[in-house]
Amino acid sequence: MDLRLTEEQAALVQTAREFARKEITPRAAHFDETGEFPREILKKAWDTGLLNIEIPAEYGGLGGSCFDNCLVQEEVSFGCSGVNTSMAANSLAATPLLVAGSDEQKRKYLSRLTDAFSFCAYGCSEPDAGSDVAGMRTRVTRHGDDYVLNGQKRWITNGGVAGFYTVFATFDPALRHRGIACFVVDADTPGVKAGRKENKMGQRASNTTDVIFEDCKIPSSQLVGSEDGGFKIAMKTFDRSRPWIAAMAAGVIRRALEESRAYALERKTFGVPIAQHQAVQFMLAEMAISYEVTRLLTHKAAWQVDQGDLSAITSSYAKAYGADAAMRCTTDAVQIFGGYGYTKEYPAPRRSSAS
Ligand SMILES: Cc1cc2nc3c(=O)[nH]c(=O)nc-3n(C[C@H](O)[C@H](O)[C@H](O)COP(=O)(O)OP(=O)(O)OC[C@H]3O[C@@H](n4cnc5c(N)ncnc54)[C@H](O)[C@@H]3O)c2cc1C
Repeated sequence: MDLRLTEEQAALVQTAREFARKEITPRAAHFDETGEFPREILKKAWDTGLLNIEIPAEYGGLGGSCFDNCLVQEEVSFGCSGVNTSMAANSLAATPLLVAGSDEQKRKYLSRLTDAFSFCAYGCSEPDAGSDVAGMRTRVTRHGDDYVLNGQKRWITNGGVAGFYTVFATFDPALRHRGIACFVVDADTPGVKAGRKENKMGQRASNTTDVIFEDCKIPSSQLVGSEDGGFKIAMKTFDRSRPWIAAMAAGVIRRALEESRAYALERKTFGVPIAQHQAVQFMLAEMAISYEVTRLLTHKAAWQVDQGDLSAITSSYAKAYGADAAMRCTTDAVQIFGGYGYTKEYPAPRRSSAS
């Protein structure tokens, strides 16, 4: 197995790293504090080609792999995981179409993301159903050639800014996973509206809202896949997107490590830089190990996805390990920064809540 990046991948990393350094890092604190949506940064990311990485060339995209997408997401998350979440949500919402959309649906909706700067959102979770996807209650009923959606989605990233949604609904909650279908719904369809925006602890630059469906009538052409195929589409979407979350964790861990190392070399106690105290060295070493492990798991998981192997196990390890490691490392970063770690003056608390 060759772990080296190709020339194109190395160039992609360089572009994303430079973008994060120049456009994101200096302004991340502002967007985190205010919760404003960083539209201008995202527009520049779109112009630079860092959005919609996996959309195939025939629909105007870069035709990048899951691996390529992970490389970009690590770099963007190094700058701000909230900005990255907004970008990743486009990929997430496009994935059901990549997995099961008709050519006509892909041409219409995927091309929309590449023709003009725009957003989409993935509507799966609900107020009472998150981990338990089969427990969703948003209902779909068939009326002649149309479908009618009623219900409420929650935690929808890009919910208030999306031009279209890929959304899941059930014909009958008692059928659980067998009753779920997937639809693509234009945001300006009568009967769809974005609800309240969440006031989050972290990733505050991302727009997370409810999306509400009230007698929302859509033609049968908006069904993605089959009427009983929605649950499988949702699961395949998670299989393909888990490596991105792990890549995001890798970016957050690398940032925690770099900030902590720089501070530990500069801050002195008892006459020496705190980097010379073994307890601090242990924390830095653990961060470095966590970064390397998260990155390796991410790359293996992404590589498997790109080989067409959608067994969920490695991507689940990557996501679970990466997320927990990011929590641990950012908590340690707060510790290394001492009292300053508890203020908003330094990036450590922001990184901590972002993880
Ligand atoms: C910032 C943010 C962005 C998001 N973006 C999106 C989006 O774009 N689209 C979308 O559809 N959703 C999105 N989500 C929702 C996210 O997918 C859910 O929050 C997640 O699936 C967990 O669901 P829940 O919040 O209902 O928690 P629950 O499922 O209620 O879980 C609560 C707790 O119980 C634990 N738990 C649950 N089941 C089990 C079990 N069987 N065994 C042991 N422990 C268990 C969980 O681990 C958790 O600790 C987002 C969430 C956040 C915070």
